Amino acid sequence: MRACFYHEDRAAVGICMRCRRDICSACCTRLDGVNHCHRCLKELGRRSAEPPTRASGMAATLVVLLASSLLLFLEFLFLIEGKLAP
Ligand SMILES: [Zn+2]
Ligand SMILES: [Zn+2]
Repeated sequence: MRACFYHEDRAAVGICMRCRRDICSACCTRLDGVNHCHRCLKELGRRSAEPPTRASGMAATLVVLLASSLLLFLEFLFLIEGKLAP
């Protein structure tokens, strides 16, 4: 019987799909049907905490880009109208 990587006195019930370490039921957490040890869970949480800030930053850039292009488009419309009007 293999022992848990984190608890030598506990029997491993599964393997972490990220680091491939033997883990016991106390260390094992199922995420999307896949076993994860607590250390990888922590790493996952740290990593998943980063993207939203980057995504919101990208969204802000997109909004600015959209607003400026809309302004340009409106200016273009006014120009055409000014040309068409006698
Ligand atoms: Zn792991
Ligand atoms: Zn354990």
